[in-house]
Amino acid sequence: MFGTSGIRGRVGTEMTAEVALSVGRAVASEGNRTVVVGRDVRQSGRMLVDALTAGLRECGADVLEVGVESTPTVARAVNLLDADAGVVVTASHNPPPDNGIKLWTRSGKAFGPDRRDAIERRLRDGEFDPVAWDELGVRRRCDRTREAHAERIVEAVDIDGRPDVVVDLGNGAGAITPATLADLGCRVRTLNGQQDGAFPGRPSEPTEETLETLAALVERADADLGIAHDGDADRMLAVDETGRFVPKDALLAIFARTVASDGDRIAAPVDTSLAVDDAVSEVGASVTRTRVGDVFVAERATESDVVFGGEPSGAWIWPEETLCPDGPLAAAKLVELVDERGSLSALVEEIDRYPIERTSVSAAEKGAVVDDLRGRVDDRYDDVDTLDGVRVEVEDGWFLIRASGTEPLIRVTAESRTDSGLERVFDEATTLVSETIDRRT
Ligand code: MG
Repeated sequence: MFGTSGIRGRVGTEMTAEVALSVGRAVASEGNRTVVVGRDVRQSGRMLVDALTAGLRECGADVLEVGVESTPTVARAVNLLDADAGVVVTASHNPPPDNGIKLWTRSGKAFGPDRRDAIERRLRDGEFDPVAWDELGVRRRCDRTREAHAERIVEAVDIDGRPDVVVDLGNGAGAITPATLADLGCRVRTLNGQQDGAFPGRPSEPTEETLETLAALVERADADLGIAHDGDADRMLAVDETGRFVPKDALLAIFARTVASDGDRIAAPVDTSLAVDDAVSEVGASVTRTRVGDVFVAERATESDVVFGGEPSGAWIWPEETLCPDGPLAAAKLVELVDERGSLSALVEEIDRYPIERTSVSAAEKGAVVDDLRGRVDDRYDDVDTLDGVRVEVEDGWFLIRASGTEPLIRVTAESRTDSGLERVFDEATTLVSETIDRRT
C-alpha cells in the first residue's frame, strides 16, 4: 500500500476516509504523541484530514493542524513545533480525482522503509491502540508555520538587486513562494495563483509542455525568469528570460555546481545526465548515484560529504537546510543565482548537453530478464551499478536498463558525449537486451 511517496490513489476507491482514519490510528499507535497535519488544495483534503485527525486523537496523539500549506512547509514544521511526525494529505502532481498521504520524520525526511512497514503492518492487521475517553489527543490550529518557513528561506539567500520573477503556482499550495520572493525584494507576478484542487490553469505536473503559458508570459513581460511548482510545491522547475524551459538536468547541474567544492559529493539518481558529472567535476566534486526517486536522493543526502541532492523531476535538496525537497527554497536559491550572475540563459549555456536516446522493449518477464542481465554484464564490464536496474559505464558514456514499474516493458536509456558514441552505446545496450530475451526463449 505504501510506496516511497506514501499512499496515493483515487478518492472514494483507494483513498478513502477509512484509509485516512486507519493511517491516523496507526501513526499514533506507533508512539507518535504530537503530529503536524497539513494538506494541499484538493477538494477531498479536508474530509481526509478530518478522518486522519480522528484516528490520531483516538489513539492518543495531539494534532497540530496547519491547513493548506506546501509539503516542505509541513515537513519543516515537524521539527519547528517539536512534534514527533508530520502528515501531508496530498497527491502531489497527480490529477484532481486523486489524493494521498505522505508521512514525515523530524529530520524533514519521509518515513523510511522500517517506519512504513510498521504502519502498513498495523493497517493490515487492524492493530491499533485506542486510549481511554479522558486521554484522547487534542486538536490545535497552528498559524505560524508558513512564516517560520519563509524566515528560513530569507536567511538562506542573499538577493541584492530587484529581479523580476513570474511564479506559476498551478493553482497549488505554493503561495509561500511569491510572498517570500516579494519579501526578498523581487518584483513578483503570480500565474495560476488561486488555490483550486480542480487545477483549472494547467495540469499539476510542471513540464515543458504544461509551462507554455508561463514561458510566454516571462518573455512578454520581459521578466528575468519564471518559476513553477507542482500541486504541493515540493518540486520547482524554471524557464529562462527568453521563455525557454530549463532542462531538468541542467537545473540540477547549476544548483550542484554552485554549492559543491573540492571533494564534495552530489546525490542524483541513476538516470542523471553525464553533463551533471562534468559540471561538478569542474569544481572538484563528484556524483553519487541513487535509485530513482527523491526519497532515495534524500537518504543519500544524509551522508556527511553530500552537499546537495537532486532528482531531475524537480526535487532539490540542500541537506544543511532540510532533507525534504523544498520548492520555495529552490525558487529563492535560483533567483539569488540569477541576481548574482546576470541571466539564467547564460547559466544554462555553461552546462553541456549530451545526446540521449531512450527506447522500450516488450518483455513479459521483464524482472527475470533484468535479473539475467545483471549476471551477464558483471563478466563483461568493469563499471556496473545494479542499484536500480542495470547501469553500465563504458568508454563513450553509459546505458541503463530497467524494468518498467507499470508495463511489461524494459526501458533502455543511453547517453554519450558525442553522436557517434551514442550510436555505439545505444547499440550495445539494445543488443544486450535482445540477446538476453532470446536466450530465455
Ligand atoms: Mg510534489
